[in-house]
Amino acid sequence: MADKILVIEDNPTNLRLARDVLEALGYTVLAAENADEGIGLAKTEVPALILMDLSLPGMDGLAATAVLKRDPRTRDIPVVALTAHAMEKDRENARAAGCTGYITKPIDLKSFRQTVADLVGRPRAAPAGSRSGHILVV
Ligand code: MN
Repeated sequence: MADKILVIEDNPTNLRLARDVLEALGYTVLAAENADEGIGLAKTEVPALILMDLSLPGMDGLAATAVLKRDPRTRDIPVVALTAHAMEKDRENARAAGCTGYITKPIDLKSFRQTVADLVGRPRAAPAGSRSGHILVV
């Protein structure tokens, strides 16, 4: 069974890109367009990884991450923040909310694949790559 990855992202273009890349790598992708839907899916599906857009309508990604980290059913699932913001303050906020990593948008595909592989392993053989500056682990 392929690893399940939940993408919580309200921007259709970003969601589609993430879905296409992850599915091409062999992961099963679950998608949510808002925090409430995403938290619900996280509880019922218990994905191996959550990619969390920080800028969501309604509850934002930081608040949603905090909710996930308070729940015993979801607290062990790594959450990687997806955001256009790359300031130190944003990284601190993401870390404080419980995010494991941080990916800046627009998504750099090589870095994106490497981050996912580092956290959940590869569902099938993929060449090793080095981290790039697009990934800031918080
Ligand atoms: Mn957004």
